[in-house]
Amino acid sequence: MTTDEYYMNFAIEEAKKAGAIGEVPIGAVVVHNDEIIARAHNLREKEQNPTAHAEHIAIESAAKQLGSWRLEDCTLYVTLEPCVMCAGAIVMSRIPRVVYGAQDPKGGCAESLMNLLQESRFNHRANVISGVLAERCSTILKQFFSDLRKKKKIDQSADNTNS
Ligand SMILES: [Zn+2]
Repeated sequence: MTTDEYYMNFAIEEAKKAGAIGEVPIGAVVVHNDEIIARAHNLREKEQNPTAHAEHIAIESAAKQLGSWRLEDCTLYVTLEPCVMCAGAIVMSRIPRVVYGAQDPKGGCAESLMNLLQESRFNHRANVISGVLAERCSTILKQFFSDLRKKKKIDQSADNTNS
């Protein structure tokens, strides 16, 4: 197992925590000097907060932990390619290295739709490593949505029986 795979496993654990409470299963950790200083999972539904993405929460928590908005010498691990907001937060926090698992063809801003993390017109660029444990990261998401669809079908047929 590589170091990146090792830390991605912790992000996957976070993603599972999100899935267990009905959130889209996405998880993130921030590593500083070989130590996890922040871990978070998606809490958008629970908090009804559009900015409560895993990596966004992890970035805020890491900044608190370090007492600095500059997350120098940090690596962010996230199970899904960062969105436009989280890519923005990565640039703003000067995180030098980002490792993600699955690609997000519908919203990813680290490669799929655009690459905000390596945009030469910004004053900060991050090294990006993609596809780390991608299969596991995306299976968790696929399983979640497939379960959700099944549940909806069951709910609908229950509704039909009642009416
Ligand atoms: Zn995001």
